Amino acid sequence: MPENGLQTLKQVEFNTISVSFGCLSQRIAELHRHLLLSTSYFGSSPHLKPENLPQNDTIAGLASGLGAAHAAYVSTGGSSTSKILFVIQPGERNVFDQKWLEYELLEKHNIHAVRQTFEELITSSSVDPQTSLLTVSPKNSPEKDIEVSVVYYRSGYMPNEYPAPEYYETRFRLESSKAIKCPTIPLQLAGGKKVQEVLGRKGLVERFLPDHPQSQIDDLRRTFMDMWGLDEDSHSAVGEVASSPPPSASAKANGDAASTEPLGTLKARKEYASLVLKPQREGGGNNVYKEDIPAFLDGLAPQEREAWIAMRLIEVPKGVKGWLVRAGSLDFATSTPSERAVQAEIVSELGIFGWALFGEGKVVGEEEVGWLVRTKGKDSNEGGVATGFSVLDSVLLV
Ligand code: ADP
Ligand code: MG
Repeated sequence: MPENGLQTLKQVEFNTISVSFGCLSQRIAELHRHLLLSTSYFGSSPHLKPENLPQNDTIAGLASGLGAAHAAYVSTGGSSTSKILFVIQPGERNVFDQKWLEYELLEKHNIHAVRQTFEELITSSSVDPQTSLLTVSPKNSPEKDIEVSVVYYRSGYMPNEYPAPEYYETRFRLESSKAIKCPTIPLQLAGGKKVQEVLGRKGLVERFLPDHPQSQIDDLRRTFMDMWGLDEDSHSAVGEVASSPPPSASAKANGDAASTEPLGTLKARKEYASLVLKPQREGGGNNVYKEDIPAFLDGLAPQEREAWIAMRLIEVPKGVKGWLVRAGSLDFATSTPSERAVQAEIVSELGIFGWALFGEGKVVGEEEVGWLVRTKGKDSNEGGVATGFSVLDSVLLV
């Protein structure tokens, strides 16, 4: 972040499928406000006052996006009793995040939800070949042929979720229906790391924001980190690469093997200490960081290079400290103070939630609806909450 001594915002990525923790981040903001009321945080900081803890109405905002999609479906001839299909993972651990959305849809929008895994949908879903109407008949429900207005994916972004051809066929069946998809397959792919790398290339932001002044486009571009493909072989895309990269295991074993590698890979070898490599995957735990990069590149099959991008690591502010409280450690009778909470150097990541409803060349609506803060120890590379790297946190204005 520090750039000429200034703190700036840098973008890690954007997600277009199964974006979680919107509802829980609202609950965390409420928890932090509640603790302020009840304890004043024991006077530990002058910044801890009500006006510095902003509202976070993510639940209402996300539900209004799904509600707008449902309304659009109904307005084009769909049944007003159609339901929103939540496509979930087996043994779903994020259920406590998802349920708030279901409650809000029911209580504020009078829209019912139906939850099914891909495995269940193999047999429970069908699409009418004439009308493209999507219906589901959940196995354990008295209701049959429930019309689906919106398919809301809280799963379907990992290869292991498609263990057999029937799972892909089911995804295509849902995609072929007239239900509104959140997201469609193309929109899911647009969230891929490769697309984010390509969007950073010269002229691309201008192409998608033709009506914006150059100064705004430059501001936006400044939030992007340097990115390139490992298979990239043009100097204009990769930039300068030193002619002799550091020796690698394969280079040592095969003479000058490394020198026949594409520029993108050579540059990743040379600058590995300030990079993260990312595949076309979501959900955390798939990236390769810093000192793990050289050996990883040695083992990467040449045809796999195009699946990976290199990204410059964001430099985070130093010396920021926070208290991390471990779940289940707050028993004062049995625990020592250092077991209950540890002070660590931390870094926080801000996420902004939004929805957009569009199709056939027109945008029906789009809105920014709330935020998420995740905080982690500064030496942890990954950032996921469900994967155990970080904790949910709140914005504190100072
Ligand atoms: P995923 O889509 O699997 O969540 P991300 O690209 O969001 O993968 O990366 C996971 C985490 O790794 C981020 O939340 C962040 O903590 C860390 N990370 C990713 N890219 C960078 C980067 N360029 N600089 C610093 N940290 C990064
Ligand atoms: Mg992601």
